[in-house]
Amino acid sequence: MKEINSKETGTLYIVATPIGNLEDMTLRAIKILKDIDVIAAEDTRHTLKLLNHFDISKPLMSYHRHNEDVKTDILIKELKAGKNIALVSDAGTPGICDPGEEVIRKCIEEKITIVPIPGACAMINALICSGLDTKEFVFMGFLPLNKKNRKEKLTEIENITKTVILYEAPHKLETTLKDLKEILGNRKIVLARELTKIHEEYMREDIDTLIEKAKEIKGEMVLILEGAQKKEENHLMTLSLEEHYQYYQDQGLGKKEIIKQIAKDRNVNKNEIYQQFINKK
Ligand code: SAM
Repeated sequence: MKEINSKETGTLYIVATPIGNLEDMTLRAIKILKDIDVIAAEDTRHTLKLLNHFDISKPLMSYHRHNEDVKTDILIKELKAGKNIALVSDAGTPGICDPGEEVIRKCIEEKITIVPIPGACAMINALICSGLDTKEFVFMGFLPLNKKNRKEKLTEIENITKTVILYEAPHKLETTLKDLKEILGNRKIVLARELTKIHEEYMREDIDTLIEKAKEIKGEMVLILEGAQKKEENHLMTLSLEEHYQYYQDQGLGKKEIIKQIAKDRNVNKNEIYQQFINKK
């Protein structure tokens, strides 16, 4: 398949790169990087190592948070002049807590074609192996450092009933966990660290337990939090087991379904609930 366009205006390729394991570089990413004219990279020295590994030799230009404005204009000019450009970040998918948004928005305004070249993304891989609900989730990036903004974001998270994903740096982990505990209370949390690398690990705990271990935890990490309990579920927690059973019975559920539902609401094993209602018709 011929990938690179030869139209008058170039195309911007958003190319994902590995988040640790170089074998996660896709064949298509290699092909595109070999075929385009210029690579815009977050850190050119870092990207050069990747290019050398795959025997790719291309002109590099830097595109990072602090020059996004100026460099976006230059990229647009080059694209309009017919150059095909690949945007890469230091690791993973550009635009996800990495530069990219601005040039992408500008390309849309200027009717320049943008093509994603999919690959690694830390938050998606952390989520799929977390064991938490993957049907609906909210990615919240990094928590802000500014006290007021941080409090606002934490308060927003407090009420999200879907799985919440956060990025965090190891030296800020303990503080972040303590802040999460203060606003959210104790909750199920999964810490996924060093994804795709030798020391890849998933710590499926609650916030309190992770706080105890925080000082020892090193490497790159993603935090995945169980969503807040829905208001109705919260109300169910205040009921006795009998009342809880009655609540579902009134809704027309059969014994098996009721037990399954109660176990889910209370986050306990089904058998535990079954034992309580063993003689119930
Ligand atoms: N664009 C990247 C992506 O697609 O995941 C994210 C870039 S962001 C600047 C860096 C953060 O991503 C790290 O602080 C960490 O939270 C997460 N991260 C990146 N690589 C990781 C890895 N191998 N294991 C766990 N988390 C990782």
